[in-house]
Amino acid sequence: MLFEDLDLASELGRAVAEQGYSKPTPIQAQAIPAVMKGGDIMAAAQTGTGKTAGFTLPLLHRLCQGQPARNKQVRALVLTPTRELAAQVFDNVQSYSKYLKLRHAVVFGGVKINPQIGRLKGGADILVATPGRLLDLYGQGALRFDDLEVLVLDEADRMLDMGFIHDIKRVLRVLPKKRQNLLFSATFSGDIRGLAKGLLDNPTEIDI
Ligand code: AMP
Repeated sequence: MLFEDLDLASELGRAVAEQGYSKPTPIQAQAIPAVMKGGDIMAAAQTGTGKTAGFTLPLLHRLCQGQPARNKQVRALVLTPTRELAAQVFDNVQSYSKYLKLRHAVVFGGVKINPQIGRLKGGADILVATPGRLLDLYGQGALRFDDLEVLVLDEADRMLDMGFIHDIKRVLRVLPKKRQNLLFSATFSGDIRGLAKGLLDNPTEIDI
């Protein structure tokens, strides 16, 4: 399979070509069409498999078709366990979206919150965040989820290992019920399956 076979927006195809990727990795070949269909997915994938592009590309494809984010609103939320992973995912978002007019932002703890509040005023089509700082910002009224279309949990097993289950549940309570959910995890323990059961609606399971 080639990237062209995936029917991604031409601006994304161009950005991918510039990365020098010759063809989709196995997780991308499975995840990209499944995410583009709009349903929920549950994917087992380790770091290094190309999983980040596996959800970022179809997410950007969806977002570039709808209305831009309104003030303070977030259209797609990607939760990650650590600020390092948040920064890495954000890097991917920036490189793949270079030919699109989308607003994106990244927020994590350990740095000043005020610049993040300022950044979110105009809304974000994609927001990459760690759970604690996201809840702080939400509590301060810096962002809103009325228009949220997609939630991604990246490295969900690490989020649970790090004790983020309550934060995740708090976030889920303030999101619109009707949305697309993408869950990525290196392993599928009982805890992850429990989380997936409450979160996902008839998910496509991807295991490479
Ligand atoms: P990830 O598993 O998302 O952390 O990605 C691991 C590495 O693979 C990153 O450096 C990506 O830039 C690279 N990568 C992602 N997709 C492809 C692809 N289709 N072909 C070659 N390299 C890729």
